[in-house]
Amino acid sequence: MLITHDTRCALDTVVDLVNTAPEDDPVADGLPDVAALADFVRSHAISDVGALSEFDLSAVRKIRGRFAGIFAAPDARSAAGMINELVAAAGTTPRLTDHDDYDWHVHYFAPGASVADHLAADCGMALAFFVVAGEQERLRRCEAPDCRRAFVDLSRNRSRRYCDSRTCGNRLHVAAYRARRKEAAG
Ligand SMILES: [Zn+2]
Ligand SMILES: [Zn+2]
Repeated sequence: MLITHDTRCALDTVVDLVNTAPEDDPVADGLPDVAALADFVRSHAISDVGALSEFDLSAVRKIRGRFAGIFAAPDARSAAGMINELVAAAGTTPRLTDHDDYDWHVHYFAPGASVADHLAADCGMALAFFVVAGEQERLRRCEAPDCRRAFVDLSRNRSRRYCDSRTCGNRLHVAAYRARRKEAAG
């Protein structure tokens, strides 16, 4: 599967966006105010975004919930339905660009799009290509029960189970090892 720089950026962005709303803690929100949204836009180099308002904040939170739904989709068909709805509502203007010395690639957001529509269009299309490539199951959530962060499994054999195997995976392996030892000793 071909992953261009923009697809990669869009994937990182959508994963980080979904993870600003921890699944197990509805109170902790990584996007509590407009300033936090502005930080998010800056750190993810989301281009052509004007002044941000409360309206943008609530619109972004809304699409964040819809992206979370796509990561939780049980199969390609339900993911496709959600992506279609999200992208259609955002409106798109596909156009070729070779900005910043990158090779030719397509941007999807409409000129002057709000930040929420920008994210819905470009991140939505990045996820759409996973469905097209038969790779929808690579969009998943960490299996560590106290984590559940969204991530995209780009491993060769789709075998990644944890958001960051060095922390979540290890933590679980250690817990399982201790439990086995305890049982053996018991
Ligand atoms: Zn680009
Ligand atoms: Zn994790």
